[in-house]
Amino acid sequence: MNLPIQATTPPVRFSRCARCKNFAVWVDGELVAPAVLTAPPPHQDLADPALASYTEGRGVFNASPRAAAALLRLCLQQLVGMLGAKP
Ligand SMILES: [Zn+2]
Repeated sequence: MNLPIQATTPPVRFSRCARCKNFAVWVDGELVAPAVLTAPPPHQDLADPALASYTEGRGVFNASPRAAAALLRLCLQQLVGMLGAKP
């Protein structure tokens, strides 16, 4: 089923990064993809599964700081376990 595009649909635009050649999606003048990452990248020594939790938390930080905090708490819990500490 094809729905007609409504006049109220925000304008969607695409751009291509001159440096990495990846595409970006803009809706109504706001960058929606790729996500803008403002949290620092993980330390080079951080390993999975803590790395995966940190990376996921970093990715959702701007959309949901509370979700990012929960993921960072999980990352810390995993890191403590990886370092051999007893819970
Ligand atoms: Zn780029």
